[in-house]
Amino acid sequence: RSDEELLKGLLTDDYCHVCSSVLIFESHRLSHYGGKKHNQKVRMYLETARAEKTPKSQMMSSSKNRFCELCNMVFNSDVVAKSHYEGKVHAKHLRKQSRHPPAKDTEVHASSSLTQNPEKSGQKSTQESDEELQMHTTAASASTSSELNLKDPNKYCYLCTVSFTDPMTALQHYNGRKHQKKQARQELLNELGDDEQLDDSL
Ligand SMILES: [Zn+2]
Ligand SMILES: [Zn+2]
Ligand SMILES: [Zn+2]
Repeated sequence: RSDEELLKGLLTDDYCHVCSSVLIFESHRLSHYGGKKHNQKVRMYLETARAEKTPKSQMMSSSKNRFCELCNMVFNSDVVAKSHYEGKVHAKHLRKQSRHPPAKDTEVHASSSLTQNPEKSGQKSTQESDEELQMHTTAASASTSSELNLKDPNKYCYLCTVSFTDPMTALQHYNGRKHQKKQARQELLNELGDDEQLDDSL
């Protein structure tokens, strides 16, 4: 877009819209359009017009360049910003950041690469609930297996409250004197209990 195009209709024979000056006389008009003041105003006007026509994204990016998120610094001009980005302070912050990356992210990635398949990485919430589920399942299965152990005579003698690692040990225990004694006493107690119950019901 040329300057002429932007100024079209603004610099008329009897009025300068840029300077808001009325130019009735030709001499006045010639001296105005040829003058320093007018040229300055036109330059300013053109700059403003161009700035307004630049896409917003470009404005954003240029304003973003004037703020360094890393160092939390704002710059008055692009020159200052540029010297900052090439300077020591910014380089120091950059090194710091690379040396201490956000801890949470790394942990998630590390654990995901170890325990989960790569497809699931990034879905943090899903992963966490999965781990929780696994924990609950393990706990549940552990309690279930211990319950089974108690009910399994090959694993546990509820009379003597002794647990066995294998059926052979269990067999040895059941054939042992200690257990036989306990069993006999238990049978006696059961008989007595039956008698008592019978007495009560009568
Ligand atoms: Zn003018
Ligand atoms: Zn910086
Ligand atoms: Zn026993």
